[in-house]
Amino acid sequence: MSTAFLDDIRATLQQIEADGLLKRERAILSPQSTRVQVGEREVINLCANNYLGLADHPALVRAATQAMESHGFGMASVRFICGTQDLHRALETRLAQYLGAEDSILFAACFDANGALFEPLLGPEDAVVSDALNHASIIDGIRLCKARRYRYANADMDALEAQLKAARADGARHIMIATDGVFSMDGYLAPLPEIRALANQYDALLMVDDCHATGFMGPQGRGTPAHFGLRADILTGTLGKALGGALGGYIAGPQPVIDLLRQRARPYLFSNALPPSIVAAGLAAIDLVEQADDLRAHLFDNAAHWRAGLAAAGFELLPGEHPIIPVMLHDAHKAQAMAARLFELGVYVSGFFFPVVPKGQARIRTQMNAALGRTELDQALAAFEQAGRETRVLA
Ligand SMILES: *Cc1c(COP(=O)(O)O)cnc(C)c1O
Repeated sequence: MSTAFLDDIRATLQQIEADGLLKRERAILSPQSTRVQVGEREVINLCANNYLGLADHPALVRAATQAMESHGFGMASVRFICGTQDLHRALETRLAQYLGAEDSILFAACFDANGALFEPLLGPEDAVVSDALNHASIIDGIRLCKARRYRYANADMDALEAQLKAARADGARHIMIATDGVFSMDGYLAPLPEIRALANQYDALLMVDDCHATGFMGPQGRGTPAHFGLRADILTGTLGKALGGALGGYIAGPQPVIDLLRQRARPYLFSNALPPSIVAAGLAAIDLVEQADDLRAHLFDNAAHWRAGLAAAGFELLPGEHPIIPVMLHDAHKAQAMAARLFELGVYVSGFFFPVVPKGQARIRTQMNAALGRTELDQALAAFEQAGRETRVLA
């Protein structure tokens, strides 16, 4: 290997560090939970996507363990060769029923589901109209397909309509609107009623990525379309957040769509089947989540309590009710310093700054979890107030 190549890579790494943008990982020594062990310290965790606190739930651990006993450890195959067990089809059917779709198809992750979705369904005669703040995996998935691309400013309905008009004027055969159900940096919901109305008006399909909603938004946690009382044509989602937090993604939608994806979706055809432990725990997670009105109530109570506490302390928040609650600091160095100090004070949070959020919008993104108790939240709030004063975020 040429030394010039590695020198260039090292220079890039040094630049990332010099810009204060280097991300470092902390090793957690315990299961993912409301409190985690990091080195010598036990800290309250406010940055996992563990919305319902299921990541270490005994029912899921039991289902996974039992499936390993009955169905083994790995599949050593893609689905269509010899990688489909009864469990895989059971989960696909169950997910579809839960989400109110005709069928669903599993992927190794939602990143793969979004990477798989567009290319088999849309050709050069078609159009995708995509929200500018959509998840990276949607952006990549759209890049992989041959449809014409149209982009609209985040949740801007005039801009969406202008792009739909443009796609129609350009003679698009089919149009698909793609949006996150919840935008994960801000905790904002996509304005689905308006988007659905525009989709109907311009005869477009509506695709919603509901990763930050499935399990806890809407009746029985069926997600943002259910929250608004409407239907998306195609839903994508993850088992890696509220539904147990392990791994796995899916696309749910009309039967012919799922059937074609099973024939043509590249991340499905050329990548390993999910292991039985994960699939069985996914089934257990849906059983649990469907009945979990108590957990959902606790999650939103926690979110309201946490928001009120931070606001009363004088922090600048973004409005909303979602359990993603960003504390705006506007400065990457402040976000880093505050997250570091909070860790010393026993609270695990993460600073978000450019390029994950726009310049000048650095923040600490906190996330609520149904398993967090009031004692933990109040302890975390005291730490936020102390760190806020010390880093001069608070007066
Ligand atoms: C987390 C997330 C993904 C990726 O999900 P994985 O299953 O972890 O790959 C995709 N889209 C959105 C909106 C997400 O928040």
